[in-house]
Amino acid sequence: MKSHGHARRPSIAITPDLAGPSPDSLHPRYELKVAYAEAVLRAGGLPFVVPYSDDRSVWEAYLERVSGLLVTGGAFDVPPDLYHDVPHDGLGLLKPERTAFELGLLRAALARKLPILGVCGGMQLINVAHGGTLIQDIAREVPSARPHQQNHDRAQPQHPVDVKEHSQLVECLGRGQLMVNSTHHQAIKRVGEGLMTTATAPDGIIEAIESKDGSIIGVQWHPELMGRVPGGQDLFDALVRESAA
Ligand code: MN
Repeated sequence: MKSHGHARRPSIAITPDLAGPSPDSLHPRYELKVAYAEAVLRAGGLPFVVPYSDDRSVWEAYLERVSGLLVTGGAFDVPPDLYHDVPHDGLGLLKPERTAFELGLLRAALARKLPILGVCGGMQLINVAHGGTLIQDIAREVPSARPHQQNHDRAQPQHPVDVKEHSQLVECLGRGQLMVNSTHHQAIKRVGEGLMTTATAPDGIIEAIESKDGSIIGVQWHPELMGRVPGGQDLFDALVRESAA
């Protein structure tokens, strides 16, 4: 390997959100929570935000230039037809253009066996890409569930999760229970083929999944807001480490 006098930083593609058009801005904009980019930089990665395209050759061109993929979350739901369901009461806002791009990019990344981290809606999309299904609204479909949409500062914890032994997740975070934030009204219903549940909340809601080889990890919480506590920065460290391998 040639030395250029600087550390090699694996390039990580990050999917942005789409905002607008709104009364404030007639033209739609891409948006990315600063914390996502900072977490990748802190982990030693080089973050690249990838604008949407419906062109398969653009997805491939992006993925040729990166070593890992971070699928972010946002305040929107995955269209139920993508997991062979009809809309139920409680289904939230859809962003079909964003989901179509992310699903295309994700499937192309899976085919290339790139390391992938999915956060919140990104985790749910990983599940759908593997043939899994979603609970469209936790409060309506699982009345016994405890609150998963916290009203206080999202950097603060909301509920515990139990991390499964013998998982890549436990290698990242250590054993046992950890506290996580929670800002989701949907959750995984049936886990997709080739994936396993690696963390659950006390009410049974699935909070993390991963592939059998551990190269794909999805978490329902927001690690980018948690800093250096178990389940926070360490997940981005793991993504960048895997992407460097
Ligand atoms: Mn939760």
